[in-house]
Amino acid sequence: MAQVNYIDAKTDAVGETIEGVVCVVGAGAAGLTLVRRLAKTVSGVVLIESGEFEIDAATQGLYSSRMRGLPYFDLATSRLRYFGGTTNHWAGYCRAIDAIDYEARPSAGLPGWPVAHADVEPFAEEAAGELGIKSDFFDPIALLNGVAIDPRGLAEESSELFRSKIFQIAKEDVIRLGPRYRDEIGASQNVRVYLNLNVAHVQLAADGGSVDYLRCATLTGKQVVARARYFVLCCHAIENARLLLTSHDVATRGIGNQFDHVGRYFMDHIGLGASKFIPSDSFPKFYDYEVDKTRSINAVLGFADATLRKYDLLQYTCRFEPVYAEPETAGALERVRRDLNKPGDASFLRDVATVLADLPVVPSYVAARYNLYFAKPLYYSIEHHLEQAPNPSSRVVISNRRDALGNLIADLDWQMAEADYRSFAVGQDLLGAEMAALGWGRMVPEAITPEFVREQVFGFWHNIGTTRMSATPESGVVDSNCRVHGIANLYVGGSSVFPSAGGGAPTMMIMALALRMSDHLKGRLGS
Ligand SMILES: Cc1cc2nc3c(=O)[nH]c(=O)nc-3n(C[C@H](O)[C@H](O)[C@H](O)COP(=O)(O)OP(=O)(O)OC[C@H]3O[C@@H](n4cnc5c(N)ncnc54)[C@H](O)[C@@H]3O)c2cc1C
Repeated sequence: MAQVNYIDAKTDAVGETIEGVVCVVGAGAAGLTLVRRLAKTVSGVVLIESGEFEIDAATQGLYSSRMRGLPYFDLATSRLRYFGGTTNHWAGYCRAIDAIDYEARPSAGLPGWPVAHADVEPFAEEAAGELGIKSDFFDPIALLNGVAIDPRGLAEESSELFRSKIFQIAKEDVIRLGPRYRDEIGASQNVRVYLNLNVAHVQLAADGGSVDYLRCATLTGKQVVARARYFVLCCHAIENARLLLTSHDVATRGIGNQFDHVGRYFMDHIGLGASKFIPSDSFPKFYDYEVDKTRSINAVLGFADATLRKYDLLQYTCRFEPVYAEPETAGALERVRRDLNKPGDASFLRDVATVLADLPVVPSYVAARYNLYFAKPLYYSIEHHLEQAPNPSSRVVISNRRDALGNLIADLDWQMAEADYRSFAVGQDLLGAEMAALGWGRMVPEAITPEFVREQVFGFWHNIGTTRMSATPESGVVDSNCRVHGIANLYVGGSSVFPSAGGGAPTMMIMALALRMSDHLKGRLGS
């Protein structure tokens, strides 16, 4: 298909000024979803993307960053800076956030969303359709039936406390949004895409009430100005905040930052491996992580809304990872299998001896290796998952180092809060007690202390917060339409606008909010 609309800003003639009606910055989940939808009826859509169609070391290097707080993923490699953005390697786990996630629950540290669940839900359903997954997000029976799993034995049949939360895993060919949408966008009469062009500065008008233009640059030294009626930053959470904070010539604290919220409340969904669970025969097998994975779902055990409210808990779920043999036996078994045709040295004999000493686990271990999950594991390792509480100290910090374009680099200071420690610990206690009461088995608990959390916590690459949505400028950065408070024509797309992480996964929700924003912008444009 013809790709007439792609302009390589490094090599093609661009001129000094780009003009458009809506200028979207960043071709990831948010930007591509927004542009595709706008392009159906709006002419003059401009998409500015830092990279090109393949990863390029120099452009990717613009994402270099340092960690100042708890260890987090390397931001230079976990975020991807080319067409398709980080969707070029996301895993496709999808679930909408629950209705309760929109509510303010101050005693749990949750500010609430200034939009209603019912307002976002239709767009989440549309995004699900786009990702080829089912839209009955909160109906575990339908979702399990949909992947040919007998749903009998679901927690909700017998427990007031628990609810089953099902993540659907969208297919590989669907989730790579860059390659998937490249031809369609390239052929649209209504869009121009500038590749290899970086937005370096958001220039406000002198009165500070609107954006005048974006200052853009290539790594080869070209300088370009982008003008439009509306601007949307879709550069992922840390870069969205960086652009607002470093564009401080007119708004001296940074754009949208009069109340010091930009860059703060950086969150991920957080995980912690702690404790064992020894199952009885009545533990429902569909909560076994390995069983699910082969069927493109992940059924986790979470808490009912009433439980979350009663105990002031953040959204908490847990994943059960089966262990069929203790690590020593498992390692020996694997090596024996691998070295079967070349035995002879002492280590092979040692491995055989280890396996013989633990012989009863061998049939179920081997069965599981071939995806025959009828066998009962020795135990499950529990992975506790939590929505991280919004915490102002967990934040993007502008360093005094500069990138290859001369722009100040944003570092990350990732921090946990009291609400996180508490929810992990209370969640585990409730989990153990309820599973015992249901006769599902016995937990062998490890103490979850703040020190343990800080040492062991890990994220899921979900960069959330930093430009949060709020009803008033005093409490956040963008309004319920994702428009920066006080700036007439500047919007932000992506999970940076989420006021809380919620009980779902971000990317489908990012797409949902982009679809919603597209309708809002079309309304403002009268198209
Ligand atoms: C390993 C991994 C697994 C993941 N798995 C899941 C999962 O299973 N489920 C889930 O929901 N989420 C998952 N995610 C998160 C998911 O990838 C992100 O939520 C999503 O890609 C964010 O979309 P976005 O549009 O905000 O940002 P991105 O997709 O990162 O797009 C941002 C775009 O902006 C461009 N850009 C940046 N700065 C500039 C600039 N200054 N000028 C011009 N362009 C710029 C970038 O080049 C990029 O194309 C995963 C992430 C990783 C890393």
